[in-house]
Amino acid sequence: MTAAKLSLFNTLTRRVEPLQPLAPPRVTFYTCGPTVWNFAHIGNFRTFLFEDLLRRWLEHSGYDVFQIMNLTDVDDRTIKAARAAGKPLAEHTAPFTKAFFEDRDYLRIRPAHVYTAATEYMPQMIALVSKLLERGVAYKGEDGSVYFAIGKFPTYGRLSQLDKREIKVGARVASDEYAKADPSDFALWKKADAEDEGVGAAWDAPFGRGRPGWHLECSAMALEEIGKHAGVQTLDIHAGGIDLIFPHHENEIAQSEGATGHTFSRHWVHGEFLNVRGTKMSKRHGNFLTARDLREQGVDAAAVRLLFFQTHYRQPVDFTDEALEAAKEGVRRLGEFHGRLQKGRGEKGQVLSARADKLEADVATALNDDLNAPRAVAALFDFVRAVNRELDRPAGPAGAQRALAVFEGITGAGLLDVLPTERAVDPALASWVAERVAARTQARKSKDFKAADAIRAELGAKGVEIEDTPQGTQWRLR
Ligand SMILES: [Zn+2]
Repeated sequence: MTAAKLSLFNTLTRRVEPLQPLAPPRVTFYTCGPTVWNFAHIGNFRTFLFEDLLRRWLEHSGYDVFQIMNLTDVDDRTIKAARAAGKPLAEHTAPFTKAFFEDRDYLRIRPAHVYTAATEYMPQMIALVSKLLERGVAYKGEDGSVYFAIGKFPTYGRLSQLDKREIKVGARVASDEYAKADPSDFALWKKADAEDEGVGAAWDAPFGRGRPGWHLECSAMALEEIGKHAGVQTLDIHAGGIDLIFPHHENEIAQSEGATGHTFSRHWVHGEFLNVRGTKMSKRHGNFLTARDLREQGVDAAAVRLLFFQTHYRQPVDFTDEALEAAKEGVRRLGEFHGRLQKGRGEKGQVLSARADKLEADVATALNDDLNAPRAVAALFDFVRAVNRELDRPAGPAGAQRALAVFEGITGAGLLDVLPTERAVDPALASWVAERVAARTQARKSKDFKAADAIRAELGAKGVEIEDTPQGTQWRLR
């Protein structure tokens, strides 16, 4: 394997560091998943797509990845949404879980090895709270909820670089989300109230009937799954969006390490935000743009992937109609180039093989350097330009086979997965196009260029692009 070369920014140390899994080639990888109170925003999918690329690059490099993704199906937001919808919690969240899997498949995201729904891990969560109570880092408040005592956990705040002077001993917060300016003892287990009972979000526990806090869920599920899979209590990589650093991941560390005494995760990786600006598609929901909005508009997932990979995961991306159009054009060019390579002749040839070797090396160097996808994509388009020039020469160079294999290895399902989705062509359309193309060829032969141009425009209006080649006129759908 070619592993052991990947370096990634580690939020714990604020440095790019070599990835050092506990027991290579195994990599245990926990990724915070969606809260299934609603459809996931395209910004959530930016995070899932950067994680998808990291997963694929690890596997491409020979690592044996075990990926866990949780589904938050009980927390403040899901309970509130279920109440507003007048439905039991499970009934409200089920369709959004299903929608998440559909969106994942649409965006070609490699499925995690296990999806953990929080409501299915109550015994593990209850055991974790009991352990923290036993160890004296948690206590029951007079409100009946159980809190984590951050003052009893000396390294609290390390991940988010919290100013410890801000910690007010005894201050408590019950809600799942709160600001970094208010570090407080946070709820591990919230005493059930009428709202929780009303939607079926309450469970019996030795320390009182209630429900888990959101942060507790991830600790309990991660520890359970890596314990079962690998017999360890330490993750190799924990990833999520930067908005999760505080309080979510800070609290996950406190809960997990407070219970096990072991490092919770060796590497913490966080992806930046996505801003949705000026897109027509998001008008329906303010700027709340979902993956299904894109799918309903017929946007090829390849374009969404390419758009995201053109920006480094630690830089914010603006999702605009212009950026999406540019990405669609990029995908179209990749598809067209793919077709040219497939028609290439010969097995061996120095020029193209050398270009392919360089592309392979450039992509590996870029991705090993903190998953620098934009540099990898730039190398890819350099390759497309250079090889197109070679293929344009009258005789054309031999050796397209190696170039094709490397190109497909990088742009295909094995890595970036940015080749256009094959579209089934309606047979009625195909025969109409064939008839129109023949009519145009006839018009050109009789030097009636006005008629030929009119037919080209007619085809264009139906989304059909044509190209005149030595082998005749070729067409495809835009
Ligand atoms: Zn989480």
